[in-house]
Amino acid sequence: MRTDVPPLLHAYARPAADRSSYVDIVAGDGAEVVDAAGRRYVDALGSLWYCNVGHGRAEIADAVAEQMRTLEVFHTFDRFTNPAADAVAERLAGLAPMPDTRVFLTSGGSESVETAVKLARIAQHWAGHPERTVVVSRRPSYHGVTYAALTATGLAANQQGFGPLLPDVVQVPYDDLDALDHLGPEYEGRIAAVIAEPVVGAGGVYPPPEGYFAGLRERCDRWGAFLIVDEVICGFGRLGQWWGAQHFGVRPDLVTFAKGVTSGYLPLGGVLVGAAVREALEADEAAVFRHGYTYGGHPTVAAAALANLDLLEKEDLIARAPAIGERLGAGLGSLVDGTDVVGHRGTQGIWAIELAEGLSANAVRDALLGHGVIARPIGTSALAYCPPLVVTDEQMDRCVEGTRRAIADVR
Ligand code: PLP
Repeated sequence: MRTDVPPLLHAYARPAADRSSYVDIVAGDGAEVVDAAGRRYVDALGSLWYCNVGHGRAEIADAVAEQMRTLEVFHTFDRFTNPAADAVAERLAGLAPMPDTRVFLTSGGSESVETAVKLARIAQHWAGHPERTVVVSRRPSYHGVTYAALTATGLAANQQGFGPLLPDVVQVPYDDLDALDHLGPEYEGRIAAVIAEPVVGAGGVYPPPEGYFAGLRERCDRWGAFLIVDEVICGFGRLGQWWGAQHFGVRPDLVTFAKGVTSGYLPLGGVLVGAAVREALEADEAAVFRHGYTYGGHPTVAAAALANLDLLEKEDLIARAPAIGERLGAGLGSLVDGTDVVGHRGTQGIWAIELAEGLSANAVRDALLGHGVIARPIGTSALAYCPPLVVTDEQMDRCVEGTRRAIADVR
């Protein structure tokens, strides 16, 4: 056993790795962060696709401190509630991309996906369709790491070695509506829900083909299946509207959210529950939804969300996404030369470049740190960009120029 490795076991990292190259982030403001040696970086991925209002916002810190002094926490199981949890649910229901919405609160994205899958299945069950248990997801996609979320995730590498996954989950290519029509007779009449990200994020940054979501909606209606739109990355302004579903003009039955709801300041996630699922849940007044997380409805976390939503609204930050698309998207597009960078993709506030064979995304990311930019490798050959909505033109230009230089460094 190695005793020289610090105890913190990092997510998505080699447990036995030498930590000498780790970057120790100690502070942040706006779209930049600072490491322990005082070096500044443009936070080109908004930490982990979430820091929409930027770092160091005193308004959120103040709201959290005030809530902490009043009521730091009390649970919301069965008959208990608190004003902050009610206020954030009210606010989110008002913003929802479908009418008559209720809101279930969790502590993050995976819990939200887990909840949405359970909601879809129990609603089908309670509506008299216990045979509808199948969940259809896409490949590639990223929905999280708990077992239902992991099973839905369309990235084979993430699933290997973890033993049996959830039964009754079937995957189709992310851009292929026809594949949905050819799922096979064993799935006929058994589909509880389809889950889809508006733009596939951590699975590789893939916008859908034209008309894709209208096609999904039509099939869900035909099958009596619920449409779960996973807005963990796209929600809260990433695509220039509150929700990716609005950007693509689709009405979901369930919406999963996390990340941008607090810009990551405190861990919050949840599910928006639309009318169809809601009716099934409310039909029998005596029926209990036996599901919930200790920290769902945490008032301090809710206070952070409310302050974050205020900032998004007051500063009209959602309107920044198209401008990011124009400047960062075009800048990254200018790197495409067919030799080192073979493509770029994305829309609005979320982008990726595809590196040529032989160029490692990890190596380019490492070199890019030396140019003061933190982007994220996705897979072995792509780098992702999803900056805070407060990112400046100059900072976006640094992302592009830094990437150009980093590629030259590793060539
Ligand atoms: N769903 C989507 C679309 C995500 O991007 C993520 C995380 O990146 C998740 C779910 C899982 O969220 P969490 O890491 O908060 O569990």
